[in-house]
Amino acid sequence: MPTCSAVGCENRTSSGVKFFRIPAGSHPFKKNRRHLWLQALKREDWDNAAAVKEARICSAHFISVQSDEELPPVSRSEYDNLHLKLQEDYINLQQECFKLRIENDSLKQKLNQSKLTYCNVKSNFRQLLFFTGLTSIIFEWLIEKLSSELSHHSLPLEDQLLMVLMKLRLGLSNLDLAYRFNVANSTVVGV
Ligand SMILES: [Zn+2]
Repeated sequence: MPTCSAVGCENRTSSGVKFFRIPAGSHPFKKNRRHLWLQALKREDWDNAAAVKEARICSAHFISVQSDEELPPVSRSEYDNLHLKLQEDYINLQQECFKLRIENDSLKQKLNQSKLTYCNVKSNFRQLLFFTGLTSIIFEWLIEKLSSELSHHSLPLEDQLLMVLMKLRLGLSNLDLAYRFNVANSTVVGV
């Protein structure tokens, strides 16, 4: 007549309770269940597989007596504490996730602003004048004139013009421009 293997429990088959074996099997789900059960049972004296195989746990240790499928044997209060802790963890993770999203958006924005593009340069009068020798009014007038002439390119027309003017005015090499505009050398050559 089996006796329950939970520490301190003396239930036997005659006590009108159901008995369950410790989960076994090679499937990761079963392995995980076995691990959770052994963790909950805290039987440090079980030093061999045979002891675990022989063990039986009575239904008094389960939240649901209908099934031993989903939960390791834990007491109701332990289960409630775990549930509360998981809820807390969930809220903390949500908050962390929210913070990371904001940080991510701000980093993306900073990265975009740090790229050399006409869009980022045009508001800085001195910078545009230094790079191109032109004001934004003349620059944009040139863009208008050129828009029908130039063929399609992966870079926007204003960035191509900025690149050409910087090369002419500052004598920059193609590779230098590629680094500044964060594009491939071949993109610069194609302008
Ligand atoms: Zn028991």
